[in-house]
Amino acid sequence: PYDVLVIGGGPAGSSAAIYSARKGIRTGIVAERFGGQILDTLTIENFISVKSTEGPKLAQALEEHVKEYNIDVMNLQLAKRLEKKELIEVELENGAILKSKAVIISTGARWRNINVPGEQEFKNKGVAYCPHCDGPLFEGKDVAVIGGGNSGIEAAIDLAGIVNHVTVIEFGTELRADDVLQKRLYSLPNVTVYTNAQTTEITGTDKVNGITFVNRETGEEQHVELAGVFVQIGLVPNTDWLDGTLERNKIGEIIVDKRGATSIPGVFAAGDCTDSAFNQIIISMGTGATAALSSFDYLIRN
Ligand code: FAD
Repeated sequence: PYDVLVIGGGPAGSSAAIYSARKGIRTGIVAERFGGQILDTLTIENFISVKSTEGPKLAQALEEHVKEYNIDVMNLQLAKRLEKKELIEVELENGAILKSKAVIISTGARWRNINVPGEQEFKNKGVAYCPHCDGPLFEGKDVAVIGGGNSGIEAAIDLAGIVNHVTVIEFGTELRADDVLQKRLYSLPNVTVYTNAQTTEITGTDKVNGITFVNRETGEEQHVELAGVFVQIGLVPNTDWLDGTLERNKIGEIIVDKRGATSIPGVFAAGDCTDSAFNQIIISMGTGATAALSSFDYLIRN
């Protein structure tokens, strides 16, 4: 068996695996896609001490750093079940069962879908989730951003500098983004904001040509012609596979204490899959290190 088995190969998992391996214990890491969300990120300018880098470059650096150590890397493997017996067992999609004394879960998060007609059909044909990645594809065109939280408004501000016009659609009665972001947004000449608006359809033929939404108060339907729709309604933690095991909050994030411990002794968690206050690379790496040090502490006491 492993001493520490890390599930997830993003910034949190890489950090946890390196910290564990540096204790000289038997360490494994299972990743559906080594690198995680940063593979979909363009420029990163807030990874402190590195002025500017690109996501795929940082992912490669993570992998190289992990490979410096004696760590079993199981890439392109999906964990589908966890069970605490005498040891902790993790079953993979391919049927293999891995056993470990301690487990660190760092399976991250993914974009939340809006689930209206057209979303699946036009994914990558006008429906996008990553303004940093796909914004430039809509240069000079009209786009919509669904979602008036921080990520939606950041996206709208970002896109307004590239595209011709941005329509912001917020379901609630007001935007939820920080005041400074809202001020910045409303100072821009090429943005229109609709609140209390429910998106009902993303329309198109071979690619997106518009969006339909309903005013939730009056029931009035509106259609705006445009070329792209950015869905910015939050992240969902990749924790479905843990149904019925450890404690999670109402949006599915794993509840951890300040040491990264979960409700199951010997199982720790780190990064975007947890109920941490912020989801950032540097924070994920920090919590990954915390979970590794805590799991080592657990091992020497049990
Ligand atoms: P993730 O990066 O999500 O990694 C999760 C890992 O777990 C992946 O390897 C995944 O394949 C794997 N996995 C998931 N489920 C399973 C399973 N069942 N079995 C096995 N493996 C599984 N942060 C910044 O600090 N600066 C930025 O500029 C920045 N820009 C961003 C831009 C975009 C477009 C996005 C999407 C995010 C950005 N972030 C940025 C946020 C940052 O990428 C995340 O906070 C960080 O990647 C979280 O790390 P993580 O290791 O917790 O999770």
